[in-house]
Amino acid sequence: MSCPICQNPVNKDFAPFCSKMCKNIDLIKWFKEDYRIPTQEPITNEDGKEEENDSNS
Ligand SMILES: [Zn+2]
Repeated sequence: MSCPICQNPVNKDFAPFCSKMCKNIDLIKWFKEDYRIPTQEPITNEDGKEEENDSNS
């Protein structure tokens, strides 16, 4: 079994990583991905209210 970040042998204190650093790297990685998800959603109207506007020509 090797560290998914740097492929070094896993340290049981930080399993499944080899060090605290790699553990933090992985944490930051999915943390950023988690923040990216909301931006991929389509932008919708906040209230969905229609503006009254008669001049259309
Ligand atoms: Zn590592």
